[in-house]
Amino acid sequence: MFFIGIFGIDHASKDLGTENNVTCPACGAYTHFKLRKEYDYFHIFFIPVFRWHVRETAQAFCCGALLERDGDGWRVLAKRTNICPSCGRPIDPEAGFRFCPWCSHPLL
Ligand SMILES: [Zn+2]
Ligand SMILES: [Zn+2]
Repeated sequence: MFFIGIFGIDHASKDLGTENNVTCPACGAYTHFKLRKEYDYFHIFFIPVFRWHVRETAQAFCCGALLERDGDGWRVLAKRTNICPSCGRPIDPEAGFRFCPWCSHPLL
C-alpha cells in the first residue's frame, strides 16, 4: 500500500516537570504532582501538521492517582489503590510486582 507510513495519526506526551505544594484531590494529602501534556496529532511524512485533544495530566506522588487538569483544579481520572503496606509508596498495579520495588516487602 502506497499510503502506509506517509501520513497517519499518532499520540504523544511530553514531560512538564513537577508541581509542588498541592493537595491531592484523590486522598487529600499535601503532595506534589508529576505533570504531563498529552495530545493526538496528524502527521505527513512524520511531520506533525496539527494537534488536537490536548490535555494536561498529572500523577500524584502520594497515592499514584492519575489526574486531569480541569479549569483551576484537577479531576481524578483513576485512583491507584496499590500502596505498599510497609513503606506506603505507590506501586503500579499493571506491573504485577510480587515484592515492593521500593522496600522489597512481599505483596499479596
Ligand atoms: Zn493522593
Ligand atoms: Zn514498600
